[in-house]
Amino acid sequence: MRKIAVLTSGGDAPGMNAAVRAVVRKAIYENLEIAGIFNGYQGLIDGKIELLQLGSVGDIIHRGGTMLRSARSSEFMTPEGREKAVDQLKLNGIEGIVVIGGDGSFRGAYELMKMGIPCACVPATIDNDINGTEFTIGFDSALNTVIDAIDKIRDTATSHERTFIIEVMGRDAGDLALWSGLAGGAETILIPEEDYDIHEVVERLKSGTGRGKKHSIIIVAEGVMSGGELAKMLMETANIETRVSVLGHIQRGGSPSARDRVIASQYGARAVEVLKEGRGGVAIGMQKHMVVDYPLEEVFVKRDHSVDRELYKLSKELSI
Ligand code: ADP
Repeated sequence: MRKIAVLTSGGDAPGMNAAVRAVVRKAIYENLEIAGIFNGYQGLIDGKIELLQLGSVGDIIHRGGTMLRSARSSEFMTPEGREKAVDQLKLNGIEGIVVIGGDGSFRGAYELMKMGIPCACVPATIDNDINGTEFTIGFDSALNTVIDAIDKIRDTATSHERTFIIEVMGRDAGDLALWSGLAGGAETILIPEEDYDIHEVVERLKSGTGRGKKHSIIIVAEGVMSGGELAKMLMETANIETRVSVLGHIQRGGSPSARDRVIASQYGARAVEVLKEGRGGVAIGMQKHMVVDYPLEEVFVKRDHSVDRELYKLSKELSI
């Protein structure tokens, strides 16, 4: 392979820039030409492609968002759109691409792979919900943002002796809620992967108040229900008054954590190695603290990314 390209797609995540930087620098180190595709798959269809140099990715390792910008493309979901994308790759002499994004972006890459384009996929999403990898880029940074918010809310919760509900991102995956709840010392954590019993939530709150607790914090993943709905439920079930804080998009922003910068560098570099070896249809990730690559199919066929049940159990034991 002589020339490869990199794009970021779907929801952005802190650390995407560090991954782009790693891809560009590693490619040049390996004597490959490296092009940047702007605005995700839509930019590929539209030919928004530029050759990148070492200096193109200077001063971005610490920045949130993505310098290549991201997009969602409905045109790429059609066979005609994907034909245009492949034509652009050929026109530009690009022999393989690194796709940095979440599950949807990986599916797009899978379609490209079936059309004969070697793809290496780097997982970047704050949801941490990609099969086959224990950590995605952005998760650690988002986690730290949520913990910072919990600590601040805890101050006011204590001062006013209130129960707070904090709604965090995670439509299908509860990792962010679980890890932040555990690290933030929340009394109750509601995640999509586990059933909840509103009466048990009430009991926990009451037993806390009974032994003189000054505040309570409940973390709810948006996939379970909204913070507002939970507040209504608690009021209707047990006349418990709560305050709701919806963290929203601040969870996606900000400077990436040190850990995210490190794994982004490792994943990005591995993606280039994979393509240089002439392999495609590969996902990069982490298993048992080792950077690994594995067939892209495994992301979709095996549902082995499940929330850490032991951690969930521990969070319950520690928040009695
Ligand atoms: P994320 O990568 O964060 O999960 P999306 O699910 O929005 O974000 O996916 C990003 C883009 O990937 C979509 O806008 C679309 O262009 C492409 N994509 C998603 N799913 C498919 C699919 N099944 N086939 C082809 N392209 C897809």
